[in-house]
Amino acid sequence: MRKRIGIIGGGQLGLMIAQAAHRLDASVVVLDPASDAPAFAEADARVVGAFDDIDALERLCEASDVVTYEFENVPGDILRHLEGKYNIKQGIAPLFDSQDRLREKDNARKHGLDTPAYTPLPVVKDGTPMEEKECQALTPQERMIQLGFAVGRMGFPCVLKTRTLGYDGHGQVVISGFEDIGKASELLSVPCILEEKVDFDFEASVIMVCNGQDIIHFPVARNIHRDGILDLSVVPTSGLQRDGRENDTCRRMTSACENFMKSCGYRGILAIELFVRGDRFYFNEMAPRPHNSGHYTIEGCTTSQYSELCHFLLDMPLRKPELIAPTVMKNILGQDLDSAKDIVAESLRGAGPGIEVSSSSDVVNAFCGEAGKGVYVHLYGKTQSRPKRKMGHMTFVPMTLDRFYSEWASRFV
Ligand code: AMP
Repeated sequence: MRKRIGIIGGGQLGLMIAQAAHRLDASVVVLDPASDAPAFAEADARVVGAFDDIDALERLCEASDVVTYEFENVPGDILRHLEGKYNIKQGIAPLFDSQDRLREKDNARKHGLDTPAYTPLPVVKDGTPMEEKECQALTPQERMIQLGFAVGRMGFPCVLKTRTLGYDGHGQVVISGFEDIGKASELLSVPCILEEKVDFDFEASVIMVCNGQDIIHFPVARNIHRDGILDLSVVPTSGLQRDGRENDTCRRMTSACENFMKSCGYRGILAIELFVRGDRFYFNEMAPRPHNSGHYTIEGCTTSQYSELCHFLLDMPLRKPELIAPTVMKNILGQDLDSAKDIVAESLRGAGPGIEVSSSSDVVNAFCGEAGKGVYVHLYGKTQSRPKRKMGHMTFVPMTLDRFYSEWASRFV
């Protein structure tokens, strides 16, 4: 009997999990609130329902042998209820721990990872973090005073972030001087965390899969952001790997992350984002799902983050990934979509009888394939494109960052 994987969330991560599951001959059922969610195009069955719709979630779980999630903000109490009844193989602990930046960083420190200095805000007199209701009751002056004192202790520059529901730079403000405090203090209508702004050399991510016995990690990617959104992931990077092997900093980083995952007792997939400065590294955040920076593993590695997650879900042995060749992954945001389609159109021109592609407007928003030698294009099939929305990604293998900048970067916005 074919096993069926249930995926909570039908975005691009769900789509790529579903593609990997099909390659392993599993079937897939997906839940998402949007009837045009990208992963529905690949799913064998679909449930259209909200992430807090318990009936819809139960229908998904009942139709599945094993359930995973690509969406991180399913309410904790609902997940706990589902975990007691169904095979949510990763468990809900890593999801719950990642849903609140304060809990997440406390947990990282407790299990051996350094973090930037941080402090919760607003707080009551004894330093206990305020609940949301208490935050809302504060006056604008009280918020400014709370933030002013905390920044005084932390020093400039620092970053104020909402504890929940932040992503891609949303829900956070950099505080570089006194002039930023007034505006930033508006965030304090909800529980926040104030962090030291790390003057890092670069950002990196470690993606691991653990089945309780074996643990694997993918070659560590260097991540380059633009406006708080991932733009490029590059592997290998001179600060982490040399001659195809991890250097000492990289080895310490991957073993600290693996020890963290094992010490927390997490199973399944976990991505950890880090700031790297010299030979030190600091935990920024984690995600218990495939990670944007790991898209590169589909073509850049001998096995991908999606495949290994499916191996875990389907009780198959994990395989150690190896880098095939230097790789660069470029996120395709709304503003890059036409350029990516142009590249697809160029590669299809003259592809054969019956294929008439003369410009980007002949290419639809859904595409997955090679568009020129070593140039892989994934367009997720989202119907609405807008600036900063993740519409797809491209992976270049073999490719170095220098070559990407000289040969390709100018084709994008
Ligand atoms: P986050 O949502 O926490 O991943 O933040 C988005 C991006 O903002 C990160 O990838 C960093 O580029 C930047 N950032 C966030 N927190 C810090 C920090 N404490 N120090 C320096 N940069 C940060």
